[in-house]
Amino acid sequence: MLKDLLLLLFPERCVGCNKTGSPLCALCERTITTRPQALSSTTAALFDYRHPLVKRALWALKYHRKRALGKYFGLALYREFFKQLTRENTLNKEEIVLIPVPASVKAVAMRGYNHSGVIASAIAEAGKEDGLSLRVEHKMLVKRRENARQVEARTKTEREKNVEHVFAVRNGERIAGKTVILIDDVVTTGATVKEARRALLPWKPKRILTIVVAH
Ligand SMILES: [Zn+2]
Repeated sequence: MLKDLLLLLFPERCVGCNKTGSPLCALCERTITTRPQALSSTTAALFDYRHPLVKRALWALKYHRKRALGKYFGLALYREFFKQLTRENTLNKEEIVLIPVPASVKAVAMRGYNHSGVIASAIAEAGKEDGLSLRVEHKMLVKRRENARQVEARTKTEREKNVEHVFAVRNGERIAGKTVILIDDVVTTGATVKEARRALLPWKPKRILTIVVAH
């Protein structure tokens, strides 16, 4: 009831056309085409970050509490990268661990959620319906210190320096021998992902892959 009341007072508006009803209307959604891309042998992205609506939707998810957009992106990632695993995975029941890349503590406190966590949860939920064994570890990767936002670091070296040893791992033994998939919203130079991998590797996962919304 409270939710209905809030929606009445503050109706959901589309990030594309501002029409009320949903955070991304069907018409605008149709203009976003996916562009699956392998950025390395272990990293894949689904959308083109230069697409204005993709950029705007990710911005709204991060800075305007549009949590529903995280679900939208999570589902899109699921359909593209996970659905095909269904057959194989339900046969051998290998558990896959999803680890969202954490945002700054301050940002999480402000918006009330970690956006990559929302995306990872949506992937896991969709997988559950298909019998996939996906588990999200929301608190395994934690920020040891607050770094400047990666967009503010200009060069590749600056970006690498900015995230150096920024992550600590909690309960790392839970990923021993498992396939780990890091989930993040945007990858540019890949410095953050590289650092996250470096923090997780000593815990001996079988492999670490990365899936991001956009590049
Ligand atoms: Zn729209």
